[in-house]
Amino acid sequence: MPALFVGHGTPMNTLERNVNSRAWRDIAAELPRPGAILAISAHWYGPGLAVTASDQPATLHDFRGFPRELFEFRYPAPGDPTLAERVAALLAPLPVDSDLEWGLDHGTWSVLAHLFPGADIPVVHLRLDSTRPPAWHADLARRLAPLREEGVLLLGSGNAVHNLRRMDLASAESTFAWADRFNTRVREALLGMDVDALVGLAAADIADEDARLAVPTPEHYLPLLYIAAQWREGEAVRLFNDRIEYGSIGMLCCRVG
Ligand code: ZN
Repeated sequence: MPALFVGHGTPMNTLERNVNSRAWRDIAAELPRPGAILAISAHWYGPGLAVTASDQPATLHDFRGFPRELFEFRYPAPGDPTLAERVAALLAPLPVDSDLEWGLDHGTWSVLAHLFPGADIPVVHLRLDSTRPPAWHADLARRLAPLREEGVLLLGSGNAVHNLRRMDLASAESTFAWADRFNTRVREALLGMDVDALVGLAAADIADEDARLAVPTPEHYLPLLYIAAQWREGEAVRLFNDRIEYGSIGMLCCRVG
């Protein structure tokens, strides 16, 4: 099974047929149908590892200030407690909480609404452990690799460039020079499949102003490491929807395998 990173951007992509959602639909048309999905989303970021373990995860509307239509959106995919146990087994002896509270956050459902609109493939979330450095996440991700042989789609959802404070709300088409420069470094590391370089970009020195602006906090960048770390010798890497919108939101997506 390939692994997929999607730059999710605004949750309005859920409802819109735009350049982003069309790109997501196009890539989904090329994917084999997964038996289940393990989602690693920027929006489940907290201390310690956890997996969602409920049979029927709720659609979480974890944002404010969007139209009612978005709050009414539901993505009723089932959970997969067996997959949750399998993930915990792969990551043992690290403790992995079985979480019955968290459902599907918008990082995941805004994308799945287009990848698999039928909402009929089970989804499990893995929480990003906020106490760990980027290199730890890349190492952890490699331990999830056997799932690819088991028909599980690893789906990372975040944004390689993500600075909400600097957004240019007046123009979806604008791109700040620093965002473009940082995105170019991400692109080059991905095309060279240099996971160490990708880790380095997330843990950049304070003097690296482009990195500081592009990754002011790690949670939107880390899901990319989980997908890049899946790459194996001889596998293809394909970037798509590699664009920046609102000045400071990188929409780059990546298919590995
Ligand atoms: Zn987000």
